[in-house]
Amino acid sequence: MNDLSRLCIHTATTKPWSVEMAVEEYARSGVRGITVWRDALAGRDPAAVGRRISDAGLEVVSLCRGGFFPAVGADARKRAIDDNLRAVKEAEALGAPLIVLVCGADPAQPLESSRAQIAEGITAVGKRAAEAGVKLAVEPLHPMYADTRSAVNTMQSANDMCEHLGDPNVGVAVDVYHIWWDPNAIGEIQRCGAAGRLFAFHVCDWNVPTRDFLLDRELMGEGCIDIRRFREAVDSSGFSGFIEVEIFSTQYWSTEQSLYLQKVISAYRQHV
Ligand code: ZN
Repeated sequence: MNDLSRLCIHTATTKPWSVEMAVEEYARSGVRGITVWRDALAGRDPAAVGRRISDAGLEVVSLCRGGFFPAVGADARKRAIDDNLRAVKEAEALGAPLIVLVCGADPAQPLESSRAQIAEGITAVGKRAAEAGVKLAVEPLHPMYADTRSAVNTMQSANDMCEHLGDPNVGVAVDVYHIWWDPNAIGEIQRCGAAGRLFAFHVCDWNVPTRDFLLDRELMGEGCIDIRRFREAVDSSGFSGFIEVEIFSTQYWSTEQSLYLQKVISAYRQHV
């Protein structure tokens, strides 16, 4: 059984709640960390939200999400970089030490071109992020998202991208949902940790059968991912940060969120 000292929950996990409600409920339930999605900040002053979080005794773990760099058109790529620079400002004001990057892909061009544009985009944002004290984490996404969401689809690809960039402020977010199927995942987690680039660890489970490729994630222990094996791999690779529960589920969002939060906590205690 895990205690809750490393438990972080993403605001998107309890999407029906406002960020204020999430902060209150997480704190009351003994959750220690919160990752804030940018949509939860809409119409709010990020600094005020950050104060509210620390006043509640929670720690901001990261801001989700930046990225979406690739596009065939140069104007669109410029807009993406500008948006990521805004995300850096938001993270700085919020007090988030990390931005998770869903790197993006444009199906109108080869994946190689998208990967090159991802590297260019991260480079364009990297200096400002480092000055703001905000790290950037490339999150490899399951290959089912290689059309529009990310051209970085394996831990190896994320590690290679970081190695190519050579920026100590840029690392990797490991999410079991995206990499559980990959026979090289454990070895690449070890490589990532050894390079000092393992910045974040996200958990949920893979529903069998999956009914929706975006919004049908499962509670830990209810699907087919060997989560404990990945937990042990990140820990033995030197990771000691928060373990972040990130579940997008129209099914769970339609239920009473306080009860669902207790299910999340119970699943974390037993299965992570
Ligand atoms: Zn994730």
